[in-house]
Amino acid sequence: MSLLNVTGLCAGYGPARVLHGLDLTVEAGEIVVILGANGAGKTTTMRALSGLIPHTGAITLDGRPLDALSAPQIVAAGISLVPQGRGTFSHLSVLDNLRVGAALRKDTAAIAADIDKWCAIFPILAKRAGQEAGTLSGGEQQMLAVARALMSRPRLLLCDEPSLGLAPKIVGELFDVLADVNREQGTALLLVEQNADLALRLASRVYLLEVGRVIAEGDAERFRGDESIRRAYLGL
Ligand code: ATP
Repeated sequence: MSLLNVTGLCAGYGPARVLHGLDLTVEAGEIVVILGANGAGKTTTMRALSGLIPHTGAITLDGRPLDALSAPQIVAAGISLVPQGRGTFSHLSVLDNLRVGAALRKDTAAIAADIDKWCAIFPILAKRAGQEAGTLSGGEQQMLAVARALMSRPRLLLCDEPSLGLAPKIVGELFDVLADVNREQGTALLLVEQNADLALRLASRVYLLEVGRVIAEGDAERFRGDESIRRAYLGL
């Protein structure tokens, strides 16, 4: 059984249908990337999986149906989202943002240990612990957004364009942390990323989205190595 199993996912905004029956899976501990042009429906997919917009079709995590759950219940079930464009609480301190990420947990000592851990991984978060999140740079906010999402100890982390607007050096650091989290904690990642080369280095499997449908899927290696696929689908 896959960790995440999505079948026939349809979602949109009011009368505007964006996703037209998406099927996808993520195995436990796997890194999967969704690629596609602007407007293909990548963010909409992430929102539907997080319970932020209504959908039809079926979403299960470890066989458990998530379709009737609210967004907080989905976090409690084990899926956490790093939204596009940071999505930190700008008027809360860095520390309070991390605490909010753990709002559904009761293990106080482990929460404090996790905060220490993330402050060690991203030293800037320790340095800015008492500062309002909105005063951080874009890169620092993205690190906070990732750390906050991981504070719920998800089994599956959804990351919507984590590299957007960041300097290449920061992107490299962030992707290294995502790879570490996957390797060391076994957290599965479902990533939306415009930077196809970067994403294909991290991911083991790929879904290509076009106007709300999966038009191709396969091993990242195949997409990395095949010039015709790269030209036809990835514009590389
Ligand atoms: P991008 O790479 O540009 O972020 P995407 O693949 O993530 O693109 P989505 O953000 O999922 O695409 O958008 C898919 C379609 O849904 C687009 O046509 C977009 O205009 C539309 N859309 C997105 N958000 C809304 C909204 N809140 N209300 C109405 N339409 C929306």
